[in-house]
Amino acid sequence: MSSTHLGRDLDTTRPHSARMYDYYLGGKDHFAIDKQAAESAAEANPNVFACARENRAFMHRATRALAQEHGIRQWLDIGTGIPTEPNVHQVAQSVVPEARVVYADNDPLVLKYAERLMRSSQQGRTAYIEADFHDPDSLLNAPELGEVLDLSQPIALSLNALLHFVTDDADPYGIVGRLMGALPSGSALALSHATPEFDPPTWEKLASVYNGAGTPVRFRTKAEVARFFEGLDLLEPGLTICHRWRPTQVDGPDTPTDTQISLWAGVGIKP
Ligand code: SAH
Repeated sequence: MSSTHLGRDLDTTRPHSARMYDYYLGGKDHFAIDKQAAESAAEANPNVFACARENRAFMHRATRALAQEHGIRQWLDIGTGIPTEPNVHQVAQSVVPEARVVYADNDPLVLKYAERLMRSSQQGRTAYIEADFHDPDSLLNAPELGEVLDLSQPIALSLNALLHFVTDDADPYGIVGRLMGALPSGSALALSHATPEFDPPTWEKLASVYNGAGTPVRFRTKAEVARFFEGLDLLEPGLTICHRWRPTQVDGPDTPTDTQISLWAGVGIKP
C-alpha cells in the first residue's frame, strides 16, 4: 500500500464530515461525537440518509458510464470518504479490470481504513494519498499519484459530495480549473453538490449544524454548480438532481423528490 500522511492527528473531540457521512450510510466507522452531530443534521433534514444513498448510487452509475462509454481507465477521486463498498475502483474494475484509481482525502480516519481501498484487481492498481483539495499542486505532484496514473492519458476527476465543503474564499473554481488543466483531452469531471434552492430554510438549518460543528459549508445553486463544468461538454442528461442522472429504475412510489435529495450531479468531458 502506498500512502502519504499530512501529519495531522485523528481529532475525536469534534465531529467530522467523513464520519457523519459514514453514519448516514449505516457504517460503523465514526465516533459518538459524529453520531450526535449527524443526528442533529437528521433532525434539521430527515432526508440526509436518502441523500447519502442516492449520492453513492450516482457515483456508481457515473463511474460505470465513464468506463463503458468513454474509455476512461483512470480515476482521481478527491474527498473519497471512509471506504464503503463498492468503492470507485471496485465499480470501475468490474467494467475494466485494469482500471487505476488514486484516492485522496484529508481526514486521518480515512487514512486509517485506506487498506480497504487497496484491494485492487490484479490487473489494475490503486493508491491512497492523504491530501487536501485546497493544495492541488501537492496532490498532483504526490509520488503515489505519478506511480499509479499516467497523466498523458484521460483521467476522470471525481469530486463527489466534496465541493460543498469548499467555501468561496478558497477559490473552488480556480482549483477545479487547475486540476482539470493538468489532465489531457478526453478526461472527465464527475461531481455531486448539495443545493439549498428547493428548500432554503431546511438547508440553512443544516448549514448551521455543520458550521457549528467546525465544518464550514457552502451549498450552491444550479447555476453555481454549472460553473464548475465551464469549458467541458456535459454528458446527457446534463446537470440533474443525482437520482435523475441516468436512473436504472423507472419512477415509482418510492422515488424521492428533487427537494428530498437536493444534490446536483453531472459529468463533463474535456474537449
Ligand atoms: N466522495 C464520497 C464521500 C463524500 S463525504 C462519496 O460521495 O460518497 C466528503 C468527503 O470529503 C469527506 O470524506 C471529507 O473528509 C472529504 N473532504 C472535505 N474537505 C476536504 C478537502 N479540503 N480535501 C480533501 N478531502 C476533503
